[in-house]
Amino acid sequence: MGIPLASEARLASLQGRIPTIATLCSHSSLQIFHGARVEGFPTLGLCVGPPPKFYDAFPLARPDQFLSVPTVKDLPGATQRLRDAGAIIVPHGSFVEYLGPEAFSAMDVPVFGNRAVLGWESDRRKERDWLESAGVRMPKLYEDPNEITGPVIVKYYGAKGGKGFFLAKNREALADFRPTGPYVIQEYVLGTRYYMHFFYSPIADGGYRLRHGALELLGMDRRDEANIDELYKLGAQEELIRAGIRPTFVVTGNVPVILRESLLPRAFEIAAKIIDRSVELFGGMVGPFCLEGIMTEDFEFKVFEISSRIVAGTNLFISGSPYSDLVAPGLSTGRRIAREVAQARAQNRLAEVLS
Ligand code: AMP
Repeated sequence: MGIPLASEARLASLQGRIPTIATLCSHSSLQIFHGARVEGFPTLGLCVGPPPKFYDAFPLARPDQFLSVPTVKDLPGATQRLRDAGAIIVPHGSFVEYLGPEAFSAMDVPVFGNRAVLGWESDRRKERDWLESAGVRMPKLYEDPNEITGPVIVKYYGAKGGKGFFLAKNREALADFRPTGPYVIQEYVLGTRYYMHFFYSPIADGGYRLRHGALELLGMDRRDEANIDELYKLGAQEELIRAGIRPTFVVTGNVPVILRESLLPRAFEIAAKIIDRSVELFGGMVGPFCLEGIMTEDFEFKVFEISSRIVAGTNLFISGSPYSDLVAPGLSTGRRIAREVAQARAQNRLAEVLS
């Protein structure tokens, strides 16, 4: 037996029944419902107001039932109804963001993965402590602007979708910067971005083994970010900034990518170190997570962010990816989540994958 994350009381609503996979109708919910259905689970869509009409367009991903609340903030009030339905909630980025990490964490319903990770991921300082203590390279943080030696990115706290980031190509260019709130100055890493979709199972006994359980790579994407990604079409950035046009990093979509095969061992080593450290710090980051970073020309991967749950870039791979097809054909991250629930249930180990 591994590390139990959920108490017996938390899992009482699942006793002796097939669980229902539930999530908020947004983000990667179509994939989560589709994967659950393929693995034989009933599904429940949590929606704000009437069920979203566009779900009718995707019959294989439409949940069996909906539970509607007036606003997202009313979801904690639906706890009893979720327990009565035998629900397991699958968190995704929008779910946690709309509800807030504290309210999400406080819900007394079984949640897929370890809810303790929220406290580490939502606080940028704690996240950095976790990753750096795991031995992972991150972009340098400058406490003193006089120490700046290259390009930097200035990030306001809580800046959503990179809105309000400020780029400066050197210390002198930062002289124009007039802060409008609390911020950090980070090294701007030159290289190419990769968003790697991993899955950590504490109960798997084959595959890429870790100290506890095993690690899988299920896909990889790059985010399309407006307006930065196509800004070059309009001219040099300095010129644009002088004209009052500022770069923004708002995610509008995703494109599939793969990594040079010779770099895969490095990607696995980094992910493994992060998982091993998460086990020591808070019992483990169970299930899907995404390493978001930049590969430099010297093949150093610097991680600027970690998402500790299913990311929207996995929506590219609902019928499998070049990586997941080598684990099991047609394996999406949503389906992998459902499979983990099925396997944990069969082995009587749900407490290790739910919290
Ligand atoms: P974040 O909000 O931290 O996920 O960053 C949003 C976007 O800004 C990323 O997807 C990258 O395109 C870019 N970015 C963030 N941090 C860095 C960095 N240290 N160096 C280069 N680009 C970065």
